[in-house]
Amino acid sequence: KLKAEANGAKTEGNGEKTEDDDKDDKAAQSLLNKLIRSNLVNTTNQVEVLQRDPSSPLYSVKSFEELRLKPQLLQGVYAMGFNRPSKIQETALPMMLAEPPQNLIAQSQSGTGKTAAFVLAMLSHVDPENRWPQCLCVSPTYELALQTGKVIEQMGKFYPEVQLVYAIRGNKLERGTKLQEQIVIGTPGTVLDWCQKLKFIDPKKIKVFVLDEADVMIATQGHQDQSIRIQRMLPKTCQMLLFSATFEDTVWNFAKRIVPDPNIIKLKREEETLDTIKQYYVICNSKEEKFQALCNIYGAITIAQAMIFCHTRKTAGWLAGELSREGHQVALLSGEMQVEQRAAVIERFRDGKEKVLVTTNVCARGIDVEQVSVVINFDLPVDKDGNPDNETYLHRIGRTGRFGKRGLAINMVDSRFSMNILNRIQEHFNKKIEKLDTDDLDEIE
Ligand code: ADP
Repeated sequence: KLKAEANGAKTEGNGEKTEDDDKDDKAAQSLLNKLIRSNLVNTTNQVEVLQRDPSSPLYSVKSFEELRLKPQLLQGVYAMGFNRPSKIQETALPMMLAEPPQNLIAQSQSGTGKTAAFVLAMLSHVDPENRWPQCLCVSPTYELALQTGKVIEQMGKFYPEVQLVYAIRGNKLERGTKLQEQIVIGTPGTVLDWCQKLKFIDPKKIKVFVLDEADVMIATQGHQDQSIRIQRMLPKTCQMLLFSATFEDTVWNFAKRIVPDPNIIKLKREEETLDTIKQYYVICNSKEEKFQALCNIYGAITIAQAMIFCHTRKTAGWLAGELSREGHQVALLSGEMQVEQRAAVIERFRDGKEKVLVTTNVCARGIDVEQVSVVINFDLPVDKDGNPDNETYLHRIGRTGRFGKRGLAINMVDSRFSMNILNRIQEHFNKKIEKLDTDDLDEIE
């Protein structure tokens, strides 16, 4: 179901990309990010804080001990291997745990510790003696809800009195059921039904409402309205928290409707830059020649790990085959793969089990494989109108040059059309892309 190939689809005649694919893309991308994540994302940026009441002091913490968490929760935090709060947690946690509770809108890229933060807030606000739902968390999809549920279970491992239930389609309860679990996590449609039609939950008793992945949420028809309807059933005193990885105007407008009087925390993404990257291009006449050039490059320089981007699934599959025949250990990431399969491929590559990752663009968006120092554009990135896709170019290549590392990018040019694309990319970034002669590769090292 998770179709996710923007570039490949059109040229290979698989039909136009639909809006539904876009929605799947976002949820799938987000899930992929969660599945492959094992650490906090590295960031050197500072958080921006906008307080609801600018005259009140702004607390931030450098340790979990300062938060005066319940001992069972602190134990959970340690068991997860957390030593100190992440950048965003430093300010978000004191706000979320304050008395009286404060509302919060927080935006930061995935992997910066948002989920862990709101899970800790929910667990802290629960009264385990009370056998009814007190915290409500809505997620865009069942799979994403499940991932958050896992974090609640891990963090609450030493707090077994607190129980969790999933409000998702397929979880059918008997009419008249009154839930005893203190935390409910689910998708908007089912949560709304459980509050309104089926009355499994008394919304007036909810103390904390979390809306996660707001940007993914609004990409799905109906989710926005359902979320707002849930929010309206909650008491005025309920703490409202909203999280998002990105913050376009549409997300912002939605956020303001969900969270009254918010504090706002934003953490900028790490800039991607071409400054520390050597960019080259190679002229070839066919894909076979491009493959030969690639072999020459491999013969001439030591490449620990490389990512190779192709325009279509078909080319990616072909190239992966050719490279394996040459004796390379190749991983292939392709659009028709399930998210779980993709996660497994990325994980193996990250562990160094394969040295080359061949992929089409969409599959690899957003994944960080820090040790990759060489990126090869077997095909240059173009958008659906055939114009250079500068953003994707920067994103593919910029990742190799972050945190002061030096990277190498090699672009394969195989027509006047692609030469024109290359020139326009070069102009756009105002950074020279040097010509490389693959029969004489001394200059590259
Ligand atoms: P987000 O919700 O922003 O995507 P997560 O809360 O899922 O981020 O955190 C990303 C990863 O970092 C997870 O593997 C999580 O276990 C880990 N993590 C979160 N907070 C901390 C922390 N304070 N110290 C170490 N690791 C953390």
